[in-house]
Amino acid sequence: MESIWSQSCTIPQRQPLTGDLEVEAAVIGGGMAGILTAFLLQEAGCQVAVVEAGRIASGQSRNTTAKITAQHGMIYQKLLRTLGAEEARQYARANQEAVQAYKALIREKQIPCDLEERCAYVYGSDAQALQEEAQAAASLGLPAEYAHHVPIPVPAAGAVRFTGQAQFHPLKFLRHLSQGLTVYEHTPVQQVEEDRLMTPRGCIKARHIVFACHFPFLNVPGLYFARLHQERSYVLALEGAPQVEGMYISGEAGGWSFRNWGDLLLLGGENHRTGESGKGGRYERLRQKAAEWFPGSREVACWSAQDCITPDGIPYIGRYAASRPNWYVATGFQKWGMTTSMVSATILRDMIGGKESPYARVFAPDRLETAAIPGMAADGGKAVKGLAKRFFQMTTQAAEEIPPGEGGIVLWEGEKVGVYKDKDGSVHKVDIRCPHLGCQLEWNPDEQSWDCPCHGSRFDRYGRLISGPAQEDIALD
Ligand SMILES: Cc1cc2nc3c(=O)[nH]c(=O)nc-3n(C[C@H](O)[C@H](O)[C@H](O)COP(=O)(O)OP(=O)(O)OC[C@H]3O[C@@H](n4cnc5c(N)ncnc54)[C@H](O)[C@@H]3O)c2cc1C
Repeated sequence: MESIWSQSCTIPQRQPLTGDLEVEAAVIGGGMAGILTAFLLQEAGCQVAVVEAGRIASGQSRNTTAKITAQHGMIYQKLLRTLGAEEARQYARANQEAVQAYKALIREKQIPCDLEERCAYVYGSDAQALQEEAQAAASLGLPAEYAHHVPIPVPAAGAVRFTGQAQFHPLKFLRHLSQGLTVYEHTPVQQVEEDRLMTPRGCIKARHIVFACHFPFLNVPGLYFARLHQERSYVLALEGAPQVEGMYISGEAGGWSFRNWGDLLLLGGENHRTGESGKGGRYERLRQKAAEWFPGSREVACWSAQDCITPDGIPYIGRYAASRPNWYVATGFQKWGMTTSMVSATILRDMIGGKESPYARVFAPDRLETAAIPGMAADGGKAVKGLAKRFFQMTTQAAEEIPPGEGGIVLWEGEKVGVYKDKDGSVHKVDIRCPHLGCQLEWNPDEQSWDCPCHGSRFDRYGRLISGPAQEDIALD
């Protein structure tokens, strides 16, 4: 299940770190946030190295839909209400400037990454709410207006339109941007202590350390596990579907996303909290919508991705924790990590360079008092539920009941274990305790993976780690 981006672009391989190293700044993670941060730091004269557990862009950035927009759903009325005008304006400006920064960088460095200027639309069924959102966004200086007509075949009363936004090919962009950077691939950071990063074959000493690893994998300090969860959604690429002349997202839960890349149409949707995939069928439901709206179209690729969600809907960008003044973080992008990666790179470059960023305050990770926000209590509650399930919810299912090509939790010699049965009937067992914090993993039938409902770690059907915060495999022999 490869995205059209990874099918159409290969990034040259880099060597792992072998031996010790000293740099001014070390960036953990070679996704959109890490590569952009390293690039801006290097342009500002800082000596920087990126340390990547897998390959460059092997995390979520290869599976995005790559819309570059300050239109992050229906958020601006809410931000005005919860933050007040000054901080809401900071959020809006930071993201709109990020759109312009992409365009300027791609133009200046002549990066061939299929950049196209497009309008962004958030559509919905409540015309009044959309009009109010358009007014709120416009009052913050964004290029927003109400649109009566939505030129896609979904039921909608209207839309909020942002002009002058953009879409691109994220991997072509990252391939070009990473060319001049020092990047160590296949080098997972296992531990960080003060100014040292430990990896399997070497240690890096760095004055500044940036955690751009999607979900921070250290539990202490920072306690990011208590204030982030992850949500997944699914994408189809369709041939023979129309040009939609814009980028679209629903402003309501359960809606769909659209954009073109060349002759293809990307149709996204089926959002859910990671680890709560139920009986699956998500690709099938998208396929039904494709058949209804674009009869005659043909699917050429399907894939999925997930992103980190914060309780107040604003990313965490800035100082990692008060006790570690030389550590920085960029996470919680709410599925808008193209502009927010650029915002992160800009804020972190300024902080590391000793400059004050006009946008630092609204994104500051220490803005939330623990448990002061309803979302935090909800996230904590989910984690407790995930733990309780492991201890108290028994299963009577036996491995024999799992059909070939499927997985599930079974009773095996008196213990609960996860089992995946190959098409040929051979059984692969996994420990269903997430190695991150011990929650019970759930089988995701659409992706054939073991997913954690608490913090979103994922493992493939054989128990190999796909993405963190967990850092270990779960295969049992
Ligand atoms: C379906 C979907 C569609 C989306 N579409 C859009 C869109 O249209 N526009 C938009 O703005 N956003 C979109 N997003 C969000 C966007 O894709 C993400 O926010 C963004 O890609 C995250 O980038 P990142 O660099 O933070 O994470 P990643 O790309 O995951 O990079 C993190 C890297 O860190 C590495 N890493 C992890 N742990 C370690 C370790 N211990 N040591 C070393 N390296 C480590 C990983 O291997 C990974 O490569 C979408 C998200 C989803 C789910």
